[in-house]
Amino acid sequence: MKYAPLIDLLKRNNIRFLENQSLHSLSNFEIGSSADIVIFPNDIDAFCEILSYLYDKGIKFFIVGKGTNLVFPDFHYNGVILCTSMLDKIKIDGDCLMAECGASVTDCSILAIKNSLSGMEFFCGIPGSIGGAVYMNASAFDGVTSGIIIESLAFDLNTMAKFKINLEEHKFNDKKSIFCENKNLILLSSTFLLKKDFKEAIYLKALNFALRRISSQPLGKGSAGSAFKRPKNSYASKLIDESGLKGFTVGGAQISKKHAGFIVNFNNATANDIKELIRITKERVYKKFNVPLDEEIIFVD
Ligand SMILES: Cc1cc2nc3c(=O)[nH]c(=O)nc-3n(C[C@H](O)[C@H](O)[C@H](O)COP(=O)(O)OP(=O)(O)OC[C@H]3O[C@@H](n4cnc5c(N)ncnc54)[C@H](O)[C@@H]3O)c2cc1C
Repeated sequence: MKYAPLIDLLKRNNIRFLENQSLHSLSNFEIGSSADIVIFPNDIDAFCEILSYLYDKGIKFFIVGKGTNLVFPDFHYNGVILCTSMLDKIKIDGDCLMAECGASVTDCSILAIKNSLSGMEFFCGIPGSIGGAVYMNASAFDGVTSGIIIESLAFDLNTMAKFKINLEEHKFNDKKSIFCENKNLILLSSTFLLKKDFKEAIYLKALNFALRRISSQPLGKGSAGSAFKRPKNSYASKLIDESGLKGFTVGGAQISKKHAGFIVNFNNATANDIKELIRITKERVYKKFNVPLDEEIIFVD
């Protein structure tokens, strides 16, 4: 009953949705119970209309890009999950690449290579979306999202209006952006300024990054990448390894044997297993090195 008008709106606009849907396949960890409704908006205006409706009616919602940095709860989510996977248009205009929030960052980097544009090589192999990358200021090797983005289009739930934000207005800071602070702001699309270069050189650099990931990361198992932010003057993976935690498990969650910075779902882990493993890891590392670790994984509740 509560959702009847929403379902009408979705049907009218031909928008895909699933009721009482399991959340397993929506996160790389493959953890989580179910949600009342999962919606897959297929254009930006429809996305904004749904956001406005949910906000106006006070219906709880959560936005998911590729689900590669989050853990869904073990209990039912009483609300709506908005999945941006169909908002995936990418286009090139001169030296700029514009992408909708659900576009894969790896697809963006491949299109940049095809157009002899350099700057996005570090995106190659990160399994997330533009929305997640901007939200978290994703970074790898020699690159960081804040280093190439020039502007974004955002939707403000307070005013129900779209507006452009420039680089400074993103308030990037380490692994944060304005979208972490202000949950009433939703990222719709972003524009990146790249540089013309030799296609082969760009390709080889991106390939090298992707191969380094394959050789050092446990890519066959569910994870959220690095579980912890990089502490000052060190690496979380080094501290965790030297605390003797490589391979340490709680329930079905494990500190990866291949890369101590990763927590993996090696045997039907629950969100609680991940939380407890994070708690113990932080405690052990702090005891041994007096360094506080800060988790990067987002828990949906
Ligand atoms: C194997 C592996 C390797 C990884 N390597 C790296 C790496 O090298 N560097 C790195 O930085 N990260 C890495 N990650 C983590 C993750 O891929 C990135 O942080 C990615 O940018 C997250 O994107 P996503 O679409 O999966 O976000 P999600 O996990 O879907 O969401 C993350 C957060 O972003 C919010 N969000 C998503 N879209 C929007 C939107 N449109 N508007 C507002 N908020 C939004 C969500 O609500 C959530 O709070 C890795 C993960 C894995 C599994």
